[in-house]
Amino acid sequence: MKVLDRFLNYVSFSTASDESSDTVPSTERQRALAARIAHELEVMGLSDVAVDGFGYVYAYLPATAGREGDEAIGFVAHMDTSPAVSGENVKARIVKYEGGDIDLGAAVLREAEFPFISRYKGQELVVTDGTTLLGADDKAGVAEIVSACEYLAFHPDVSHRAVAVCITPDEEIGRGADHFDYSRFKAKKAYTVDGGELGEIEYENFNAAAVRITVHGINIHPGSAKNKMKNAVLMAAELINRMPAAETPAHTEGYEGFYHITDISGDESQAVINMIVRDHDRERFERRKEFVEKLCAYMNSVYGEGTFVADITDTYYNMKEKILPHMELIEKAKAAMRSAGAQPVIVPIRGGTDGARLSWEGLPCPNLSTGGANFHSIFEFIPVESLEKMRDVLVYLAR
Ligand SMILES: [Zn+2]
Repeated sequence: MKVLDRFLNYVSFSTASDESSDTVPSTERQRALAARIAHELEVMGLSDVAVDGFGYVYAYLPATAGREGDEAIGFVAHMDTSPAVSGENVKARIVKYEGGDIDLGAAVLREAEFPFISRYKGQELVVTDGTTLLGADDKAGVAEIVSACEYLAFHPDVSHRAVAVCITPDEEIGRGADHFDYSRFKAKKAYTVDGGELGEIEYENFNAAAVRITVHGINIHPGSAKNKMKNAVLMAAELINRMPAAETPAHTEGYEGFYHITDISGDESQAVINMIVRDHDRERFERRKEFVEKLCAYMNSVYGEGTFVADITDTYYNMKEKILPHMELIEKAKAAMRSAGAQPVIVPIRGGTDGARLSWEGLPCPNLSTGGANFHSIFEFIPVESLEKMRDVLVYLAR
């Protein structure tokens, strides 16, 4: 089966995850795609194919004769799509891109807004009709992994090491690694195939913390409040004004970290400020958290002890320090990209990834491109050529 046909079949399944759900997987509909993927892997003759109770698909392709002693490699992708944009009734279509704008039907993908599309001139692109996302994030990754397994299963003359596969639900709502079963996944190193444009290799992500600052005020009738009222809302605003103005998401890029106030709420008696702190560098990340604590201490020296209470929780860490001892994973990925005719590009992730969780839990797991672009958007697309090349990249990595 062509990677494209497999991909088009997967995007016909509606698999959005749902943050408000307490079930695993978060949406029942993901199980239908899980069953389909497991069925395909089973027909190809992979062993230990199973969909577990949480909707995770596992499979194992044993090494060819003489390669049993080689270290197994794992491939991980996710089958859910972002709940941010509808993934229902996806009408994928292939257009030959001749340059300029692409009329999707319900919307126009404009070259002026997405100038990078010019590099796909002359290629066939899979696009949407402008009403839904496409689902290349991450059904392209799933299709590429399953197609690589198919290639290896049907080419017994191609020598390869053992391959472990896991397709997870609920990555888009941050739960993709929650129920990852390391005992079922028979590889000690892996790649997630969940990145963007062809050639991207990612092994650096943010260190992340969530900060909640509670401001305790004193409320008194405004008519008799002189020298008594301590308005929590005003004190919260003052703290926000003392945050570094240029170190916000709107003013940073690349490896630059930031403080991001996500919401504030409250009244005269009490106010709550929520913020997230991000930095690629662990040292700077620690200093950012210290800054928040020092600022609260300073504000307390002005308004009284206990007025500002900061509650800081680390959310995830940069996988870089877990990948550095295994840089052969990156070198092999670069070689694989080049062998498929793609230019490898190392990009820092300005966010988190399931691979970071897996890496910190003991499974070093950099992220590879899927080939797709404009994820979580009605403008999402993927070049047909990139689907095929990524299948070849994964075959190379298995060999
Ligand atoms: Zn994804």
